[in-house]
Amino acid sequence: MKALAIDFGGTHATCGLVEDRVLLAHETIDTNSAKSIGAVLPRIRDTCRGLMHGRGLSPGDIAGIAIGFAALVDSRVNRVLSTDGKYEDVKDVDLAKWLHENVGLPARIENDARMALLGECYAGAARGFTDVVMMTLGTGIGGVAMIEGKLLHGKHAQAGCLGGHIPAVFNGRPCACGAVGCAEAEASGWSLPLIVRDWPGARDSVLSRYSNVGFKELFEEAASGDKVAVAIRDRCLNIWAATAVGLVHAYDPEMIVIGGGVMKSADVIVPYLESYVHKFAWTPWGKVQVCAAKMGNNAVLMGAVPVLSQDISATE
Ligand SMILES: [Zn+2]
Repeated sequence: MKALAIDFGGTHATCGLVEDRVLLAHETIDTNSAKSIGAVLPRIRDTCRGLMHGRGLSPGDIAGIAIGFAALVDSRVNRVLSTDGKYEDVKDVDLAKWLHENVGLPARIENDARMALLGECYAGAARGFTDVVMMTLGTGIGGVAMIEGKLLHGKHAQAGCLGGHIPAVFNGRPCACGAVGCAEAEASGWSLPLIVRDWPGARDSVLSRYSNVGFKELFEEAASGDKVAVAIRDRCLNIWAATAVGLVHAYDPEMIVIGGGVMKSADVIVPYLESYVHKFAWTPWGKVQVCAAKMGNNAVLMGAVPVLSQDISATE
C-alpha cells in the first residue's frame, strides 16, 4: 500500500510518502509562526502534491492520507477535539474533508502519539507485539497504550493518551494542562528550565550559564559531575521510571517503547527505566520489555498504513 502521511506537530509539519514499511520521501514545513491551520493547509496541499509528482504518482496510486495531529483527536469521527493552544481554529475545520477536496484522497486523523505507536508496532521496536505502551520524552511527555492489538480510545477519545499527565507528585509543580505534579510538569523539556531555576544551589551550577537549558545540556553536565545536574537528572529519571510503572499497572503491556528527543541519552535512560520497572512493577507473569523506539522522527509517518487499513493484521 502506498500512502501519504502528515506528522502535524506544534512547530513543524512533516509530509511523507510511504509504501508499506518504507518511507519513500518526506519534506518538513516550518509552521512555528503560523497562528491558524488555515494558513498552513495550502502549504500542506502543495507538499503532498509535490511528493506524488516527484514519484510520478497520481491520487489513483495512493490509498489515502493519514494525519497524526498533536492534539486530542477522535479518530472515530475523524476530527480534532482540542488543542493545547496552537491552531485553535482546527476544531472548526474539517481537516479530512479539506484534504479530500484539495488533494483528492480520503484522509484519516489520529492523535500523533497513537500514530507513532502504530508506526513502532508496524515497522519499529514493537513489531509483532500487541500489548504495548509508548512513552515519548520530549518537550512534553506522550503516553499511549495498545491492548490486545487495539489502540485505546475511550468514551471521550482520551483513553491511554494522557500518560504525561499521570500525577507524579500530588502537590507538585503546575502543569500546562491545569493540574499539578503531572509527569511532564516534573520532568519534560518545557518544565526543565523552570525546575533548574527553582533548584536549591542552581546559581552555583554550570546549568545557570544556559539561558534555556535542555536535556542534552543536563545529561552532558551531569556526566561531567556537576552536582545539581546529577541531582536533577536523577530526579527526572525517577519521575519517568515511576510513570512507566504506573503505565504498566494501568495497561498490562508486554513492552514499553521509549521515544522522543531525550533519547539521545538512551544509553542512560533505557537501562535505568528497565531496572526500575523490573524492580517495582507488579508483573508476576514475567518482566516487561523496556526498549528504545526505532523509528525516531519517522514513527508518526510509519503509522500511516495501519491507520488507513484500520486493521491490526497490517502489523503482522
Ligand atoms: Zn498535566
